[in-house]
Amino acid sequence: MIKNHCIGYPRIGPKRELKTALEKYWKGEINENELQSIASNLKRTNWEIQKSFNLDLICSNDFSYYDQVLDTICLMGAIPERFKSNEKIISLKTYFAMARGSQTKDLDVSALEMTKWFDTNYHYLVPEFNKRQKFKLSSNKIFDEFLEAKKVGIITKPILLGPLTFLELGKTIEAGFEKIDLLDSLLPVYKEIIEKLNNLGAEWIQIDEPILVKSHSQKFIKLIKNAFDQIKSYSKKTKILLTTYFETVDDKILNEISNSNIDAVHFDCVRGNLSLTSEIIKSSKKIISLGVVDGRNIWKSNLKEKLEFLESFKNKNTNIWVSTSCPLLHCPYDLDLETKVPSDIRNWLAFSKQKLKEMSFLKDVLNNTKTIKDEYYLDNQKLVLDRKNSKKINNANVKNKTKNINEKILSRISPFSKRIEIQNKIFNLPTFPTTTIGSFPQTTDVRISRAKYKKGEITEEQYINDLETKTIEVIKKQEEIGIDVLVHGEFERNDMVEYFGEQLEGFTFTSSGWVQSYGSRCVKPPIIFGDVSRPNMMTVKWSKFAQQQTNKIVKGMLTGPITILQWSFVRDDQPRQQTAYEIAFAIRDEVKDLEANGIKMIQIDEPALREGLPLKQKDWNNYLKWAVNSFKISSSVVQDETQIHTHMCYAEFEDIIQSIADLDADVISIETSRSRMELLTTFEKFNYPNQIGPGVYDIHSPRVPHKNEMKSLIERASKILDKKKIWVNPDCGLKTRGWPETIASLEMMVQAAKELRSGK
Ligand code: GLN
Ligand code: ZN
Repeated sequence: MIKNHCIGYPRIGPKRELKTALEKYWKGEINENELQSIASNLKRTNWEIQKSFNLDLICSNDFSYYDQVLDTICLMGAIPERFKSNEKIISLKTYFAMARGSQTKDLDVSALEMTKWFDTNYHYLVPEFNKRQKFKLSSNKIFDEFLEAKKVGIITKPILLGPLTFLELGKTIEAGFEKIDLLDSLLPVYKEIIEKLNNLGAEWIQIDEPILVKSHSQKFIKLIKNAFDQIKSYSKKTKILLTTYFETVDDKILNEISNSNIDAVHFDCVRGNLSLTSEIIKSSKKIISLGVVDGRNIWKSNLKEKLEFLESFKNKNTNIWVSTSCPLLHCPYDLDLETKVPSDIRNWLAFSKQKLKEMSFLKDVLNNTKTIKDEYYLDNQKLVLDRKNSKKINNANVKNKTKNINEKILSRISPFSKRIEIQNKIFNLPTFPTTTIGSFPQTTDVRISRAKYKKGEITEEQYINDLETKTIEVIKKQEEIGIDVLVHGEFERNDMVEYFGEQLEGFTFTSSGWVQSYGSRCVKPPIIFGDVSRPNMMTVKWSKFAQQQTNKIVKGMLTGPITILQWSFVRDDQPRQQTAYEIAFAIRDEVKDLEANGIKMIQIDEPALREGLPLKQKDWNNYLKWAVNSFKISSSVVQDETQIHTHMCYAEFEDIIQSIADLDADVISIETSRSRMELLTTFEKFNYPNQIGPGVYDIHSPRVPHKNEMKSLIERASKILDKKKIWVNPDCGLKTRGWPETIASLEMMVQAAKELRSGK
């Protein structure tokens, strides 16, 4: 019999119950017991849903109060010293101190660093390792969850983050060793865990090793077989499933896995393409779990295609299981809860619960207990076809535009050296011109006004009036502070992607499509379902309004095509590159209109450019090429006189500096606070041709930076870059800050620039 199984279910709750509970707990409104009981209900619901769809293996330990890597840090007892924990079993207090930092009398420490989980928009907490790192079993969570499910009659398959991924995702806090050198001291804890789960009656343990889809050194590859043979040897009865996901596994690594003793291996068959002729299929006796249902997007599967794929393996006598490509952590809960998506588009979607049903049906057909005459299948085929032929999706105009991408569309009229001469004459800015990144504090009054407008409690006129008042105020404040190039403040924007998506054709929005971003934070990505175009101007009104309030230059402010793509659920019926180009042309239209309406500087933000990089380095060039092209399609439509800015943050940029230069933006403002020194050395090594504003202070903290800190930073930058090229600005937008520290910091920043100008 062919089985199916879930390799991870969303944990935040169908209505974000975990978010609400966590926030109450942090505020002291509920206690630990109450938090635990809410968590228990969520876990139980998840198990019961999986059971109701007849899944053969139901998972546990996919629940987390904050993050599965943080859970593993506790499990392995790898608590950094600054948290002063000598607890045998890590308490929730220490757990949340690592997640969020702590500012109590007895513990004043910063949180662990947070970073993106592979190429998803989920963030994990980064383990910290020292040279003599000790590991010791220090959490019972994985056992407790197993027993919790057992009590309600379900023998689960516990999920455990694998040793290779755990080590590789961490960072070393001292020199002189490699993370992977710690493997031997880590494995004994895995031994203890596996033995214990074995004794508790676990039939299967799932070991997640997504790191195996990346490319690795020979040294690393050599460790794989041995590590998994050891893991297998720890268990008497319990079987071991190794899960890989997010990409294909390179052949060399596949061979090692194939030669190891583990019982089953899972592959992502949406992103990857497991070949029928690979060694693991031909010669190993392992169970092969085929992740055919897309675990990180929201489209219904084409069941016909999925069946054909699965049957080709079945016909080879491969012992197969059916699953989703990756854990469902990155997919919303349940389409049945959805109230906003238009009904025709809704028919094309499947959220987590619906994906369980797909898995269940696929298994039943393979086992001959259902057939393709089943209504569910016929319905699926009809809807798949409806989507394909829908008029809503296809726009010949858009497709035509993207067919003719030539050098003319991709390039400015003159090279930078000539443009900048023209622009300098027009703008006549001082040395070290000051500016900000776009947004100013979105205080509660702005949010309340928008919420009221959306609920129909105030009229559009009133809402616009509120926004105008805010915009006028912010222009005045910037003038008072003495900033050289102003912004309009972005008060009309809820979110830098949603605001544009709402005005573009080809996008739709959900009421219920929440996915976890980190901890208690969730996002509701827009859905790009069809060809993207811009029916009306999107930002011109506000930019023009702001420009009318002042004689200084106000920058127009747009989100770039790659960031819009990256932070949405993207259609799966055409290459991402095509969708990126379509968005790029829509932004191009907007850029052109801004210019025609007297806006002289236009900033196109691309904070997500770096995070779109494919997991395998061999695919980088191709991605970077279309990503850079997309930006250039958007920006190159203007005259030499118009100055194009861009902004980047949330990442380190050393390895893509050439592509950043290729964007050919006249000015880039860029986050530097996380790696201040490195970025400047990068610019030293790489002669960045255009103008640049390295962020002079970190906006993520309310702390007001001192003038001299910023002065020394600008001075350091002037030693490396041509003084005439340097702008002075904060690291990122000021949306999340309060007004008092914003004004104080910007005043300091302007003073710093002024003193340097006059040679003080
Ligand atoms: N212009 C945006 C802002 O200032 C940029 C945000 C970002 O880089 N994430 O908020
Ligand atoms: Zn930013």
